[in-house]
Amino acid sequence: MAAEVERVAELICGAQRLVVFTGAGVSTESGIPDFRSPGGIWDRFNPDEFTYQHFVGSVEGRRKYWELGRHVYPVIRNAEPNAAHYAIADLHRLGCLDCVITQNIDNLHQRAGVPSEKVIELHGNATRARCLSCGCAYTRDEVHEWLERGVEIPMCDPPCGGIIKPHTILFGEAMPEQETLEAERRARRSDVFVVVGSSLVVYPAAMMPLYAKEAGAALVIINLSETPHDPYADVLLPGKAGSVMEQILERVRQRLA
Ligand code: NAD
Repeated sequence: MAAEVERVAELICGAQRLVVFTGAGVSTESGIPDFRSPGGIWDRFNPDEFTYQHFVGSVEGRRKYWELGRHVYPVIRNAEPNAAHYAIADLHRLGCLDCVITQNIDNLHQRAGVPSEKVIELHGNATRARCLSCGCAYTRDEVHEWLERGVEIPMCDPPCGGIIKPHTILFGEAMPEQETLEAERRARRSDVFVVVGSSLVVYPAAMMPLYAKEAGAALVIINLSETPHDPYADVLLPGKAGSVMEQILERVRQRLA
């Protein structure tokens, strides 16, 4: 493990464009469950009931979604960035980071100190919502208050009355075009691409490490469990994101000193 940490620190210090790619696993140590680990969200809920088609297509779909959202959102809102988020933000402060591409919707990279313009959110951000008819923006805090007051299905203010949807990408929903294109562009021009806490099975997000590898970048995968992209990795670090990222940051600091 020490040799792998050293190798990643060396890669980071020699990189022109370091891209960090994160998934739900970077935030589990902040208390936000991931989807696929034992005890994760899909152990408790059926993903087929929470698709985009169910949400926009039926009142019942929206009712179910908001019922789950009312419980999940406070977990996200009350979570604090952990050692992995802070280590990534420190890489930015040290001038080592091109950008973060994240599948997460929890806003924790920004809260740890990575500037918003350096965070490409492939699946949206849970702190915002908007009306699908008129585009009016709402904060999720505002919508959450309505849910707490007993509203089952939040609707846009009169006279619009349109469907309010969180600014997150549901299963079956098209990816945000601009973010997806930008992520692909950054992945393809990166020279070091570090995956932290992703099962790498959700597409098209899981294409990003492959684009980077195809373009000649060194690929590092830091994840608790195996991923389908492990055979393409130059360095594999099976472990917890927080402690592994802390160790890497320490070695980077020593090399830059
Ligand atoms: P995933 O749930 O499919 O996989 C998470 C991976 O992280 C697993 O392989 C697991 O072994 C690993 N992991 C868990 N804890 C870890 C830790 N402490 N250190 C290192 N690795 C750890 O998540 P995914 O790949 O991001 O994709 C699923 C989808 O889940 C994404 O679309 C994402 O939008 C969404 N999601 C986001 C959040 C969030 O915003 N925090 C939470 C749950 C799900």
